[in-house]
Amino acid sequence: MKALSIRNLRKTYNNGFEALKGIDLDVEVGDFFALLGPNGAGKSTAIGIISSLVNASAGSVSIFGHDLHSDRTQAKTCIGLVPQEINFNQFDTVKNILINQAGYYGLPRKLALQRTELCLKQMDLWEKRDTVSRRLSGGMKRRVMIARAMVHAPKLLILDEPTAGVDIEIRRAMWKMMEAVNQQGTTIILTTHYLEEAESLCRNIAIIDQGKIVENSDMSSLLAKLQVDHFVMDLAQPLAAAPQIDGFKMELLTDKSLAVAVPKQSGLNQLFSELTQRNIQVISLKNKTNRLEQLFMDLVDAKTAGSQP
Ligand code: ADP
Repeated sequence: MKALSIRNLRKTYNNGFEALKGIDLDVEVGDFFALLGPNGAGKSTAIGIISSLVNASAGSVSIFGHDLHSDRTQAKTCIGLVPQEINFNQFDTVKNILINQAGYYGLPRKLALQRTELCLKQMDLWEKRDTVSRRLSGGMKRRVMIARAMVHAPKLLILDEPTAGVDIEIRRAMWKMMEAVNQQGTTIILTTHYLEEAESLCRNIAIIDQGKIVENSDMSSLLAKLQVDHFVMDLAQPLAAAPQIDGFKMELLTDKSLAVAVPKQSGLNQLFSELTQRNIQVISLKNKTNRLEQLFMDLVDAKTAGSQP
């Protein structure tokens, strides 16, 4: 049995737009799975269908063996959804938000109280249980969203960009909490724009683009596929134009900052000796940010190159 099994899932919106063009996806029980893709790829549509907020046009979805069409109540009970927008009642206390959610899932009062305490403690919010939620910080509100989604002990937790817009320190704290939840046996599906997030948390990954799955593999094989590393170098002296060096694609970002694509087989030594010969001094080197976007472009490039005669 899979935690999630999707076959030939299609969605055509009322205006005729085909947002999902027949996707297949399997998520193993206990996995920490990343669903990545650019804006408009179809991630929210897919998550909307899995969590019964959007009706599919065709295809099947099964959650822990429960078919979403014929066994919807059971399937829904297996899922906890953390949507992007904060959508709890901001005038309610933290504790009440969870107790009400537990009631919605039909948990008896005693169990609801136990689960509320457990989930709030897990998200490091127990001290805040009696606080009116609008008084919480942005990071805490996001953790309330996660705690609320976990209160009925779902087997599958779906997080739609859980750390979008939160600063790195809070993001890392949230990663630890999500990891702990996963280690205790909850299967997690995460959508994210941060490759670092997917890289450090997720074992398996699917990339969706224009309503199709374009890549589905484990994280390490995906990263190994990338033949080029992208860096940004800070230069000691300004340059008027990017240097021309065979085998390395370069682009001047500002007069003292140079983006460079380094093929793995060439490595950095060759690049630095070429730069030294040209009397170009590098002060520092860092990985290009937004590696997800880069990874995505590289995959599309590789596919286009592969399909050429
Ligand atoms: P993502 O979550 O990957 O950004 P979405 O699933 O939100 O992508 O959207 C996929 C595509 O479907 C987009 O082109 C979007 O404009 C379109 N879309 C989403 N919702 C609707 C809707 N209710 N009606 C028509 N088109 C929609």
